[in-house]
Amino acid sequence: MERTKIVLKSGKDQSVRRFHPWVFSGAIKKMYGTASEGDLVEVYDNKDELLGIGHYSPGSIAVRILTFDSEEVDADFWRNRFHNAYALRQSLGLVNNSQTNLYRLIHAEGDNMPGLIIDVYGSTAVVQCHSIGMWQNRELFAEILMEMYGPDLTAVYDKSAESLPKTMEGVAQSGYLAGDDSDPVAMEYGLNFHVDWTHGQKTGFFIDQRENRRLLEFYSKGRNVLNMFCYTGGFSFYAMRGGANLVHSVDSSARAIDITNKNVEMNFPGDERHEAFAVDAFKFMDDMKDKYDLVVLDPPAFAKHRNVLSNAVQGYKRLNVKAFHNIKKGGILFTFSCSQVVSADLFRKTVFTAAAISGRKVRILHQMAQPADHPINIYHPESEYLKGLVLMVD
Ligand code: SAH
Repeated sequence: MERTKIVLKSGKDQSVRRFHPWVFSGAIKKMYGTASEGDLVEVYDNKDELLGIGHYSPGSIAVRILTFDSEEVDADFWRNRFHNAYALRQSLGLVNNSQTNLYRLIHAEGDNMPGLIIDVYGSTAVVQCHSIGMWQNRELFAEILMEMYGPDLTAVYDKSAESLPKTMEGVAQSGYLAGDDSDPVAMEYGLNFHVDWTHGQKTGFFIDQRENRRLLEFYSKGRNVLNMFCYTGGFSFYAMRGGANLVHSVDSSARAIDITNKNVEMNFPGDERHEAFAVDAFKFMDDMKDKYDLVVLDPPAFAKHRNVLSNAVQGYKRLNVKAFHNIKKGGILFTFSCSQVVSADLFRKTVFTAAAISGRKVRILHQMAQPADHPINIYHPESEYLKGLVLMVD
């Protein structure tokens, strides 16, 4: 089948030549033929040289490039990409690991598969497509996953209804592509978590904080810990295992707090050091003066787009000022931003401003990022989104 050809304006080929996988609609000079959302299209410079092949979308990102070579994008192409992603996780020690069986298998652009996220929770894989092109391949992806993992995988759940473009609302339904009713408990560094992939946020769990949660364990001994924006409790259980005096978990979602309590019962039955609160973070922090000496701030992305960046920066500043004002002397603050548009540098400046406003003496102990199963494509800086600081507040 003849594929639609997209020709870029002169000079607009530079970023694609440097392997940036997005073609913006403004870079297009002419389209030969028609394309529906999700179709494969070929991208050329204005001298008729093929630059790449990718999924078309009528939005601002017009093409998400899948390959910069002249090759077929068929089942073998996908099989090969999936096997590469799997091989990386094997080399990271994440496959068949007796202590950790949850990890990200495919991190979109970071694994050269723009628009596709796949997370593995024990014997279930959860697929989240962000483009129609990827979603149209979901059955094939499930087949490849089942074949690649063999008996180690019993179910594949598609959770794309909420991640696809708005035009798909009501059209795409989430559901099992293979198997069903699989075990919703997965393990991270020996701790067990209920993972709610059918109703929970993202694919059901925030895998990206794994290494940072583990780091917290080493700072927890004898401390009073506040885990703000706890979701299903992640950081709290590392703090408990690390020997914290008490652990308070806070999230505005009552559902997340229910699961947090279930997770306490599963890992530390009857342990009275833990208490969970379904309240707003900003309200809770008004009443925390000198109660805590280890605080985690892991808010949701305050800025999803560049045009709300300054509001987001204000939000991070306000939150961190509150923490600096109220944390005990000698306290440790784990503070994060998962907004893609807030760079590590901007985040650090924002936290610096918050420290200066509070007048506390602050030292940086660690600079944190996303783990290696969330790789950053060096040509696509947008794939870097999680950053954090561990601070000593004197
Ligand atoms: N730290 C968690 C992930 C946090 S995700 C982990 O390790 O798994 C961000 C969380 O912030 C979500 O669970 C969301 O429900 C919660 N949230 C959003 N706005 C909030 C607010 N104003 N107050 C408290 N929690 C909030």
